[in-house]
Amino acid sequence: MGKKGKVIILVAPSGGGKTTLARRLFKDFENLKFSVSATTRPPREGEKDGKHYHFLAKADFDEKIEQKAFLEWEEFYGGMKYGTLRSEVDKKLNSGYFVLLDIEVKGAVNIKQIYGDECLSLFIQPPSIEMLKQRLIARGTEDEQTLSLRLERAKEELTYADQFDQVIINDDLETAYAEVKDAVSEFMNQN
Ligand code: 5GP
Repeated sequence: MGKKGKVIILVAPSGGGKTTLARRLFKDFENLKFSVSATTRPPREGEKDGKHYHFLAKADFDEKIEQKAFLEWEEFYGGMKYGTLRSEVDKKLNSGYFVLLDIEVKGAVNIKQIYGDECLSLFIQPPSIEMLKQRLIARGTEDEQTLSLRLERAKEELTYADQFDQVIINDDLETAYAEVKDAVSEFMNQN
């Protein structure tokens, strides 16, 4: 792999089907690698350090901010910090891989500003807030308060859609995936 890779960002407001879409991309594109973010939130059941996230103590995260180790970072959910490590992305790009970032909107907009044309940013949009609400209810993982918080956040996130290279409406997951796959494929072949 002689050539340097490029960055792909997949953003979807809560419940937008992002995890499924990302999983399928990794299956279809073996030259695509996941950028493992750093976070101060504790691991959930089944999450592995270095695979899902680099789980860091608050002080260690702050030290990395000081060292300018992050391409971007954000703080949300009651003080939890999340950030994209420069070393994590560079290592993979320099090995010729494409790197997939699963981050939230503001981080995505910042990364797009850094990489410009070397980055493809995709926004997966639910057909409507009402539909998103129905999906979250069907998933059954939220209580009423977190449900309304997630919906509020989703509404805010939707206002960023026009800052992305492409907006893909996730009405039907198969159709949405076909569009995501085409966009990624075209971007990879642009080299
Ligand atoms: P979770 O705690 O559910 O894994 O992630 C919460 C949110 O943080 C998700 O929207 C996820 O995409 C976002 N996130 C994960 N890593 C990063 C990162 O490195 N930077 C930013 N800005 N957001 C991230």
